[in-house]
Amino acid sequence: MEKVGFFKSIHFKFVVVYILLIIIAMQVIGVLFMERQEDKLKDNFTKNVDENAEMIEVNFEEELEKIINDTEKEESYQNLTSLIRDLSFSDMDRLMVVNTDQQIIAASEESLVGRKTTQPMISQALLGSPTNDIFQKKVGDQLVRTYVVAKPIQKGTDGDVLGTLYIEASIEEIYELSRTLNEILANATIIALAITALLGIILARTITRPLADMQKQAQVMARGDFTRKVRVYDRDEIGQLAASFNDLTNKLQEANEITESERTKLRSVLSYMTDGVIATDREGYIILMNDRAEEMLSLSRHEAMGLFLPEILGLEEDFSIDQLEESPSSLILDYSSKEVPFIIRSSFSVIQKDDGPVNGIITVLHDVTEQEQIEKERREFVSNVSHELRTPLTTMRSYLEALAEGAWQDENLAPKFLKVTQTETERMIRLVTDLLQLSKMDNKDYQLNFQKVNLTEMMQQVIDRFEMSKSEKISFEKHLYNKPLPVRIDPDKIIQVLDNIISNALKYSPDGGKVTFNLKKEATNVHISIKDEGVGIPKQNLTKIFERFYRVDKARSREIGGTGLGLAIASEVVKAHNGEIWAESEYGKGTTIHVKLPTHQTREARV
Ligand code: ADP
Repeated sequence: MEKVGFFKSIHFKFVVVYILLIIIAMQVIGVLFMERQEDKLKDNFTKNVDENAEMIEVNFEEELEKIINDTEKEESYQNLTSLIRDLSFSDMDRLMVVNTDQQIIAASEESLVGRKTTQPMISQALLGSPTNDIFQKKVGDQLVRTYVVAKPIQKGTDGDVLGTLYIEASIEEIYELSRTLNEILANATIIALAITALLGIILARTITRPLADMQKQAQVMARGDFTRKVRVYDRDEIGQLAASFNDLTNKLQEANEITESERTKLRSVLSYMTDGVIATDREGYIILMNDRAEEMLSLSRHEAMGLFLPEILGLEEDFSIDQLEESPSSLILDYSSKEVPFIIRSSFSVIQKDDGPVNGIITVLHDVTEQEQIEKERREFVSNVSHELRTPLTTMRSYLEALAEGAWQDENLAPKFLKVTQTETERMIRLVTDLLQLSKMDNKDYQLNFQKVNLTEMMQQVIDRFEMSKSEKISFEKHLYNKPLPVRIDPDKIIQVLDNIISNALKYSPDGGKVTFNLKKEATNVHISIKDEGVGIPKQNLTKIFERFYRVDKARSREIGGTGLGLAIASEVVKAHNGEIWAESEYGKGTTIHVKLPTHQTREARV
């Protein structure tokens, strides 16, 4: 988190505000108080001087009158002088008595006596009006403020002006005092400021400490640690805030634990799901994907995060995200490769609260490969059956039409035509019989009729049967186990398997070809193989010949009366015996069909 700069800190703001407050307070106090104080002192001083002047004037009036009347003149001068000397108290720097001729007749300084003065204030006082003022007087190097009073000395209260009393008193002391008071105030302000700043810092700390604590706590909480608690220093508002903060931490911790456990549950549900689940944000970018979806799309969660849903499903050309949101049904996505079939049904549903905006899409991917395969096989099967039945029926119809149109009367043609219809009917019966048998075996309840049989003997009998009916151009060679070979099988079904394999070997053998029979005993199996020297089967078709209706050469197979179901039935029967059947062939040189059957059935197998 960004560190708070010093000038933006609460500490700084507190101190500044306090200092400003103190400065303002001191200024207001200083200006109002000091001015008042100065005025008051000045007033007191001037009043004092004025009162003294009043008092002096009374004393001088009598002496002056004597001087003017020329009675005891000399004595009066002396009295005045001594009065002035007596009255020259500390405040008064200069005291003079001026007669109406503007001559100084007595003064605190002897040297002034007898001089004439033109001082305007004295002149004005001689006219009867008392004056006073404050002047600046130079004393040595210093300018000294002096209070000057010129007071007329009158006969009685309103009588003739006898002279003027002139007083100069230094008022500088008052200003000095006020300066000293100012200095004291300034010093007091500085001390107050220092104390305030200190108090401001302490006060700010009491506020910022819990706040800093809470900030630290918030940072720790952001990292997922809820164990730390804020210290509650006091029960004041900040203390209550800290307590609420701790309460909030507990609640957050609980909420976090609930969310975490829900998330764990969801994660385990999602990871154990057999369906793939993908969630996107409102723009269609992936935000969640479970293990199964990763597996299905061969894409790691890490790679998929932030990719566009239609893109990873390969739908970007056909669907926009809005269309997927609106799409009510599911889509079948075919991801089959040449070798492996893989079909997914993806269902889309929107994440939406009530009628609010769409917040994303949930896509569920369900593997429907098997269903689709079964469905495909079913469709192929129906189409194959229809085709297999249609071919003989069409042939029969044309021959029957020909017979109906008069061929029945033709002695040569009629038997031939009837023979064809008979052959086609037989083929259809064979086909329907085979289909019925396969259908029975497809049924869950189908049971084999297991019996203990001597396989050597049984196989010998089957070969003998074929030996009697086969063409002389084909020879048989037998390498059969030379002792009785007891096995637990369904003899009818295994005879049918041998019939199908041997009849194929004969069907596909050229004239002069040889069919070799082998029967061997192995540890837990019996191994039968029937080898011919016929056309052979291309390598890529070796496994397919066991599929229903599969033929390498369709036209040829039909020509020689095959239904395309013989080996499919054989395969089902062998599998029902827990055995194995496979083909080996070199194209053009011959084919060997192998069958392995367990001598003992561990479980009564079914198809
Ligand atoms: P069909 O009735 O057509 O013979 P099968 O299921 O018995 O049907 O055999 C399936 C296909 O396998 C045949 O159509 C044929 O193409 C091939 N096939 C089976 N056995 C042999 C064999 N011995 N030699 C060559 N091809 C064979």
